Amino acid sequence: MAWLTGYPREKVDWFPTIDPDKCVKCGMCMNCGNAVFDWTETGPTVARPYKCVVGCMTCANLCLGNCITFPSLEELRTLYKKEGIWAKVKRQLEAEGKLDARLKTEELSPAPDQSGGKDHA
Ligand code: SF4
Ligand code: SF4
Repeated sequence: MAWLTGYPREKVDWFPTIDPDKCVKCGMCMNCGNAVFDWTETGPTVARPYKCVVGCMTCANLCLGNCITFPSLEELRTLYKKEGIWAKVKRQLEAEGKLDARLKTEELSPAPDQSGGKDHA
């Protein structure tokens, strides 16, 4: 997965949590392309948390009940910096021919004003 470049998915604290008391059972979360959720008699459950795309929050953004939450985005970015994942991802993309290797990245760590994290596709 290019977002992680071989870093173990199970070591990344990133997956949705549903507040069942607020869930209005609109079904929107079942659109997840990675089948993270199962639909049960009582509503959705997070059946396969580590299938969630790291950094994605689409289901939370579109949840009618506004009841899906994620771990700290700042902690996720800190992990990426600590483990050098940004640099590894860039090297992989260059190797795949998706980036021009001659173009240098000034800094492969988060700038102080980028902590809001709006870079997921
Ligand atoms: S999108 Fe939100 S409100 Fe709708 S079923 Fe899923 S968890 Fe419940
Ligand atoms: S954040 Fe994205 S990948 Fe993760 S469960 Fe929600 S829709 Fe699926």
